[in-house]
Amino acid sequence: MIKITLPDGSVKEFEKATTPMDVAKSISEGLARNVISAKFNETIVETTTPLETDGTLTLFTWKDKEGKTAFWHSTSHIVAQAIEELYPGVKLTIGPAIENGFYYDVDLPNGSISEKDFATIEKKALEIARGKHDYKMRAISKADALSFYKEQGNEYKVELIENLEDGTITFCDHDTFTDLCRGGHIPNTGIVKAIKILSVAGAYWRGNENNTQLTRIYGISFPKQKELTEYLALLEEAKKRDHRKLGKELELFTFSQKVGQGLPLWLPKGAALRERLENFLKKAQKKAGYEMVVTPHIGQKELYVTSGHYEKYGEDSFQPIHTPKEGEEFLLKPMNCPHHCEIYNTKPYSYKELPKRFAEFGTVYRYEQSGELHGLTRVRGFTQDDAHIFCTPDQLDAEFKNVIDLSLYVLGSLGFENFTAQVSVRDLDNPEKYIGSVENWEKAEQAIINAAKEKGLNFIVEPGEAAFYGPKLDFMVKDALGRQWQLGTIQVDYNLPERFDLSYKGSDNELHRPVMIHRAPFGSMERFIALLLEHTGGNFPLWLTPEQAIILPVSEKHEKYAEKVLKSLENNEIRALVDSRNETVGKKIREAEMAKIPFMLIVGENDEADNTISVRRHGGEDLGAISIATFTDLVNTEINSTLKTF
Ligand SMILES: [Zn+2]
Ligand SMILES: [Zn+2]
Repeated sequence: MIKITLPDGSVKEFEKATTPMDVAKSISEGLARNVISAKFNETIVETTTPLETDGTLTLFTWKDKEGKTAFWHSTSHIVAQAIEELYPGVKLTIGPAIENGFYYDVDLPNGSISEKDFATIEKKALEIARGKHDYKMRAISKADALSFYKEQGNEYKVELIENLEDGTITFCDHDTFTDLCRGGHIPNTGIVKAIKILSVAGAYWRGNENNTQLTRIYGISFPKQKELTEYLALLEEAKKRDHRKLGKELELFTFSQKVGQGLPLWLPKGAALRERLENFLKKAQKKAGYEMVVTPHIGQKELYVTSGHYEKYGEDSFQPIHTPKEGEEFLLKPMNCPHHCEIYNTKPYSYKELPKRFAEFGTVYRYEQSGELHGLTRVRGFTQDDAHIFCTPDQLDAEFKNVIDLSLYVLGSLGFENFTAQVSVRDLDNPEKYIGSVENWEKAEQAIINAAKEKGLNFIVEPGEAAFYGPKLDFMVKDALGRQWQLGTIQVDYNLPERFDLSYKGSDNELHRPVMIHRAPFGSMERFIALLLEHTGGNFPLWLTPEQAIILPVSEKHEKYAEKVLKSLENNEIRALVDSRNETVGKKIREAEMAKIPFMLIVGENDEADNTISVRRHGGEDLGAISIATFTDLVNTEINSTLKTF
């Protein structure tokens, strides 16, 4: 008999060679129907793998990440079989599951695959899936595995097998198809009910551009057709909301090959929007006791040697800037923290003067591989809404709560309601990985957990995820499409105060080390605006949006009146403009809709006579003819309903 421990801690005895599926059946028939993958002692196994020793077993269904991985990887075998049948002579290479779906890289010596072939591949793959073929793993000797693929003339699989140890090699069979595979499959192909080929792209064998270029086929699959339909609708919507597309349409930012990849250029409307966001945070920060500082974009290499950043990132980042003077080297700043430590160091502090909170919208530069760059979410130069709080260990608790309050205020004012937090703490089994005293760590971790609890955050604690220099809390938000993004972070740091020899005089008249908190509620301006664009689809909250209203005179005759309306809106601090082009009102409305301007104010004969404006909301709601004062009230009420005071 063997003892199997389940995730709830219960231990059950089974005959030797029991399979995960047998264990599932012993729990309930319902579970057995839904189990598609399993993990035994940290190793992913088949649901049919005989369990020979005592151990811990986790069963996965489609709802689990591991279940999806097995599902999608298994589908890649089905699609590979379909391609082998449709494209004789194709050479298969690798087919892993990815975050959303799977891909298979293939070499097509006689032909190519394009979008028009997708439907045929899908049809064939579904036919195979419907055959309900079991996935069967079998061990094979290295010699046999090599001769199998040598016979096929598949040099890719041969290369993969040559790098494997004899005795560890397995094949997976289903139907008439065989693939070199480590395992991790669903029970049979019949569970896959919907398959979609999403795209094809070029990919070099083993990611090396000196190697053959292969065809990468991306796809996704689901246990229900309905789920595929929903996924495709979501993809469509995500495409419409892509921040790169919206940023261009709304004239917020651009990139120039001449300026350089990954270096965003903010256009006037985007720059103004950024400024509004910055001012919004500055105002709240001021109330929360922060002081603004300004530091340069470069710093001596020595500064980053002291901070440890050079040792950690120096090799893979922008290289030092040299001056005409021999041996003088500067780095583009990758972080603002070292500069802020030096600001702290300009004078001695007593504990009574702490905390000090230095804030800066600091632009930093980090080298990202060109293939990694993506719109505003992965760039080489970006501005952090950064601040560093220097406090005594006793103040940490209260400071952390204040930062959470500020972060929640920021997220609330921008319409994010769906967020969770992750608290990253030490790995207690490896204390040597961390610097700072055990006592301080315990205090800090407890402070973060207490603060998260007290603020009613929905949070999880992740042991082992803390940085070596301190624990942290990260905010994760879900956007309107349910996609998760990591945003602001709050980190406790014992390392930099040590490296920069920071101190304060305690009540005992001795010098002590302050604790440092790094925090950025937006994360970075670039990333935040990208997220905001995708979350709102470009329909920003009224307080933030570029133009709040556009005045549309029905004819040239009413232009003067339109200008008068504009003046009076401007006096009430409403951002508006007049569309005086010689176009029909219908066309102007359509374009204003495209530009996502919240209010269209149409002015004609009656409006001019009655001193009113005819208000149409973005999306089509007609608010009728109202006075400018009524409209101003309406705008202010709406703004105040989202933008609370901090
Ligand atoms: Zn496989
Ligand atoms: Zn920092």
